[in-house]
Amino acid sequence: MKRIAALAVVFTLLCCCAPADSPLPTASFFAMNTTMSIQLDGDEALLRGAENVVCSLERKLSVTDPSSELFAINSRGEGEVSPDTAELLKFALDICEKTDGALDISIYPVLRAWGFTTDGDYRVPDGDELADLLALVDYTKVDVSEGTVTLAEGMQLDLGAVGKGFAGDRVVEYLRENGVKSALLNLGGNVQALGSKPNGSPWTVAVADPLNGGYLGTLEVSDRAVVTSGGYERRFELDGATYHHIIDPSDGRPAASGLVSVTVVAEDGVLCDALSTAFFVMGLDRASEYWRAHGGFEAIFLTDDGGLYVTSGLEGSFTAQGSYGAALTVIR
Ligand code: AMP
Ligand code: MG
Repeated sequence: MKRIAALAVVFTLLCCCAPADSPLPTASFFAMNTTMSIQLDGDEALLRGAENVVCSLERKLSVTDPSSELFAINSRGEGEVSPDTAELLKFALDICEKTDGALDISIYPVLRAWGFTTDGDYRVPDGDELADLLALVDYTKVDVSEGTVTLAEGMQLDLGAVGKGFAGDRVVEYLRENGVKSALLNLGGNVQALGSKPNGSPWTVAVADPLNGGYLGTLEVSDRAVVTSGGYERRFELDGATYHHIIDPSDGRPAASGLVSVTVVAEDGVLCDALSTAFFVMGLDRASEYWRAHGGFEAIFLTDDGGLYVTSGLEGSFTAQGSYGAALTVIR
């Protein structure tokens, strides 16, 4: 079978600072399988501490590191976990339920069959194989109580949809506790702003345009996470077809909901991360309904026919780029 290397787009969002600002202490490092950068207005030593926050979470949550808590649970079907891992699992399971299983952290057996966890060993599983694997996917059979996680037989978890958002929240918390009032994180495309820029104006975050290159537009944010999910971030091509890494748990295949990318904006990075992945599976109509029913976040949707949709709370902070201005629809 012909195999073509995955195309990984590390930064889905770029951060733009006004040129007049003096450069802030910045650190770049590789963690959670992606490039991360942190800039802050404060003591440079805190950059190292922030990196440690991410790396210590990665050691617990990695699905491939044999010494991680998640790896132990996946190998044995049960295990004790730290308060961090328990908190993230409980949060993720809540969103799995609220999204009717569009987010399902037990998708790992299916994801692995497609080769999305094994560094490029991509393949297209047939219908029978997917049916067998989907029998193992059911977030309602994950039990997290008193620091112990128990899975149903054969089940395995993956926290790739929520880990970076959770890490962003923890870094912001760490920096706040250490007196930082202004910082910007880019954890592999998960952008998170602590406060505003040192000069008091909001941070400007550009949202990538995967259809045409460049940007869909820019967002002005303070104390907000901006998280994008899109099939373009990780994918492979085989026999002329393209397959990406966000799986629809209803059929075990890459989600084909008509969306190219979803960006979620909220105070909590982990909420943004969970919802952007789920919405990519759910599609524009179901995601819009979710926004109306739950609130607490805003979103930007790009459809595969070039439509740009923005929830009403972003009117005023989102500026569409070029021709997207005329094509913009506000969701109310
Ligand atoms: P994100 O980049 O946050 O949208 O997360 C994508 C990652 O989440 C994938 O690389 C998988 O590790 C995992 N994933 C894929 N599909 C799902 C799904 N339906 N529910 C939960 N996790 C998923
Ligand atoms: Mg996500």
